[in-house]
Amino acid sequence: MTINNNRVEGIYNLMETLVWTELERIVQTERDDVCFCSLCKLDISAYALNRLPALYVSTQEGETRFTNLEMDKRVTGKVVEAIKHIAEHPHRANRTMTEYTVNELFDYIDK
Ligand SMILES: [Zn+2]
Repeated sequence: MTINNNRVEGIYNLMETLVWTELERIVQTERDDVCFCSLCKLDISAYALNRLPALYVSTQEGETRFTNLEMDKRVTGKVVEAIKHIAEHPHRANRTMTEYTVNELFDYIDK
């Protein structure tokens, strides 16, 4: 494990991949009533990732261990919840993070 540009190399958060893969699947197949512009997709991913556990893995075996039906169901549920939430507040990412107050950010995470 090494640190490069303040990032730890050799481990990554598998949950990011699971959420993004599930979101892309839903974008392709299920909804045409929701904005899936790049800003909204990032907002949907951030919303879901803030409400799911991090799954840091360092090996292929770790990836296999965390990729299972129960985990898929949790990810799907949280991505669907995120899509509903962002559909009510589209294009939120047009505001930069520095425009949010700390209380607004915690309200966003708690919802
Ligand atoms: Zn949008």
